[in-house]
Amino acid sequence: MDEDPIADELPRVRYDVLDSYESPGFIVEKRPFIEFTDSRSLTHEERRKLRILSSVYAAAKIMELDDEVSKEAARIALELYKRWHSLKVTEVIAVVLAAAAEKGVAVTRENVERAYEKLTMISRGKPATPTGVVFNEIKKKFMRVMMELNMKIDKDGLIVSYVNILGNAIGADDASRMPMIVLARSIDKSRPAYSAAAAVEFFNYMMRLNRDSESLWKMLWPPVERKRFLIDGASVSVGAGNVEAPEPESRTVTVVCASCGARLFSVKHKPPSPMNFDISQIPFHVPAVCPHCGARLWDGNRLMIRSVKVLYKFRHNGNEVMMIRASALMPMESSVAVREIEKPS
Ligand SMILES: [Zn+2]
Repeated sequence: MDEDPIADELPRVRYDVLDSYESPGFIVEKRPFIEFTDSRSLTHEERRKLRILSSVYAAAKIMELDDEVSKEAARIALELYKRWHSLKVTEVIAVVLAAAAEKGVAVTRENVERAYEKLTMISRGKPATPTGVVFNEIKKKFMRVMMELNMKIDKDGLIVSYVNILGNAIGADDASRMPMIVLARSIDKSRPAYSAAAAVEFFNYMMRLNRDSESLWKMLWPPVERKRFLIDGASVSVGAGNVEAPEPESRTVTVVCASCGARLFSVKHKPPSPMNFDISQIPFHVPAVCPHCGARLWDGNRLMIRSVKVLYKFRHNGNEVMMIRASALMPMESSVAVREIEKPS
């Protein structure tokens, strides 16, 4: 067996500068080669750097991140190595997540778990399953990396990226994701994961895709709690026109015609309890055409969405509840594909 566990995982690095103490000693390119310009072997220090780089690339690959993010992660890792003189498994993962956040690329919880298992396998010989403590440690290190290198998170990119991950999970097509992104942006731009999950959950219910919401929220990294962010009321205007949805009322679902403003559907529900369903179980009935003005509301199985207003309850760490009003005007012709079974007769 090779002395170094780096053989399979090696990023392609070019050995460039031989003398400079400051230089990392090689340039990161692509996998899977090391290119030497002389015949000397690696120093102890260079081996350590190579191990870190190979870990970074292994983690980035598992997290399904592209070359651009991987290279950025490698750059950050070498920068931090200069300051910290070593990088632990949680730190390597934090570095990769920081590079992804900077580029606006979302990562799933499962991929972070698998990266942790892989890196502990490489460093300790057997994989360890990350616990809540490990997740917290990764989160703390992530914050430290971001602050120490003064990095900025691309929050809008992250919102789009999270919506795409979750949209895929519920089986939404590309066109149906646009309204989700527009709604997510209007919820809380400073909380990309919460906003994306809250928006996708709303459309998941509207589109009758019925993917279990709890499992949807659990997909994301960093972990977010659904119970801290609940849909309370919603109003939607459907069809083509310029009438916006009315202000949402607490625990009420309302649908209006975007052409004439007629109220097509409205129901008030009781607070969720074992006896009462929560809002996600209320039927969402929209006729084929508006009974008042005759405007078309569906395009085949696609419900045309003009505007959406949703009332969310956000529970802080204590028990303080904040109401968040999200209001999104959709581009004309926006629509979501509603599952066959719910097509109006
Ligand atoms: Zn109408």
